[in-house]
Amino acid sequence: MTVSPRTSKGQYLHGPQQLRLEERPMPSIGPSDVRIRVRSTTLCGSDMHYFKFGRNGSIEVKEPLCGGHEAAGEVVEVGATALETGKFKVGDSVAIESGVACLECDRCKAGRYNICAQMRFRSSGASFPHFQGTLQEFVDHPAEWCHKLSRTLSFDDGALLEPLSVCVHSVNRAGMKQGARCLVLGAGAVGLLCAAVAKIEHRSPVVIADVDKGRVAFALEHGFADVGFVVDPKKGDTVESRLSVAKDLALQIGNQKWPGGEEVRQVDHVFECTGVESCVQTSIYATTNGGNVVLVGMGTAIQTWPIAELTGREINVVSVWRYVNCYPRAIEIMEGVRANSLKPDVTKLITHQFVGLDSIPSAYDTAGKTRDGESKLVIKTVVNF
Ligand SMILES: [Zn+2]
Ligand SMILES: [Zn+2]
Repeated sequence: MTVSPRTSKGQYLHGPQQLRLEERPMPSIGPSDVRIRVRSTTLCGSDMHYFKFGRNGSIEVKEPLCGGHEAAGEVVEVGATALETGKFKVGDSVAIESGVACLECDRCKAGRYNICAQMRFRSSGASFPHFQGTLQEFVDHPAEWCHKLSRTLSFDDGALLEPLSVCVHSVNRAGMKQGARCLVLGAGAVGLLCAAVAKIEHRSPVVIADVDKGRVAFALEHGFADVGFVVDPKKGDTVESRLSVAKDLALQIGNQKWPGGEEVRQVDHVFECTGVESCVQTSIYATTNGGNVVLVGMGTAIQTWPIAELTGREINVVSVWRYVNCYPRAIEIMEGVRANSLKPDVTKLITHQFVGLDSIPSAYDTAGKTRDGESKLVIKTVVNF
């Protein structure tokens, strides 16, 4: 029989790049919670922002913060009311949906819990006291926000469901038709997963662009995209020159050829996964009349856009905030990938693995780079316990 833990050790951020291993007491389990031994956490861009700067955009850390929200683990205890539902038992593998919404406000009731104003999200500094992340041994999480994993999925697969859900939501928000042509800007984990989901859900031809040629090569080699484009970063010094650089980049991408020989031209949907102003501008120029730009990447808060390009060509800008009811579909996709019936293989994204609480500082260090010490490409870093 498993003895329920009384404490949980984790790595807490006490300031930019100041991690401390702490052991914190665990209160007795809440009735609707499950206690989870965290087994796998993949690191995300927001974790890196908190680690490097002690903040993520405008969100500041107000007390020591444990990172990690892309996670899966093993159930070690089930609260009394959670037990009655029969949904989970000790020993089950679960993916943790890290955002816990109120489920009572009008947004939640309208089925859009991702934009609930009362949202508490693990490893985010937005709510206070902070909802601590999963870079620790144990967490108590509402059973309602846990997803059971079949034995065909690993804990790492379970952790990847989180960024995969972001991309399932992004593709849902794009309102795509079968075969719609897509451009993805940014070939990091989220860009690659958007490309993968567009292919899996809508058989889309995909062009992917990034400043890093290794990432573009990775996308092509593993079937995430049909066409790759390595961006030569240029900067203008006035608004006009910056816009003309963006327009020129969109043209260059449009001049590429699909494998069938046809020119790419402007596409139906652009998934902007960098958040960089020049890339958002490029997205607008690269979209066909009546198409849409999906803003997936979080980046520069205030930007200049060529609005006349949007209004004159009825281009919609679609925003994306995390995900809503996307875990079940993400699980199906992951199972399809594991059964070899769906491609591309999204599990290839995990390029670096670290084991144990003591390895977390090195994991952060690696996740912050595009190449490791041996110049191997870094896409996703996972921490296993
Ligand atoms: Zn994330
Ligand atoms: Zn709500």
